[in-house]
Amino acid sequence: MKVTEILQGGCLCGALRYQIDGTPFDADYCHCRQCQLSSGAVMMVWMDFKRHQVTWLNGNVTEFASSEKIRRGFCQQCGCSISYRHLDYPDYLTLSIATLDNPNLVTPNYHIYTDHQVSWLTLEDNCQRYPQSRS
Ligand SMILES: [Zn+2]
Ligand SMILES: [Zn+2]
Repeated sequence: MKVTEILQGGCLCGALRYQIDGTPFDADYCHCRQCQLSSGAVMMVWMDFKRHQVTWLNGNVTEFASSEKIRRGFCQQCGCSISYRHLDYPDYLTLSIATLDNPNLVTPNYHIYTDHQVSWLTLEDNCQRYPQSRS
């Protein structure tokens, strides 16, 4: 993953702003129902960081417990789905690629939960596809 600019991003209304130190260690498309229903879109595209790489410049993420161990972060004002974390992995934080100021800077590498990919969506890439989770 080649990123030459400092990654920054935020939500629709600007209440949440973040800056990244370095680059994500991985990135994926997720077609799961929880991502669909929490975002209102047919998939989320996520990038994975070590927690210390992410600095919040502005605002506080509000979190929803979408399952016992998963916390999905959103903006209280505009509702933007911005983050994802698993309570068992406190050193990691996942952010939505779409919330980058320039989403072209990070390219996802693989698809998960393609069992739930909507049938009318055609994605012509060479990425690995996993019917459920990768692990
Ligand atoms: Zn917002
Ligand atoms: Zn998902």
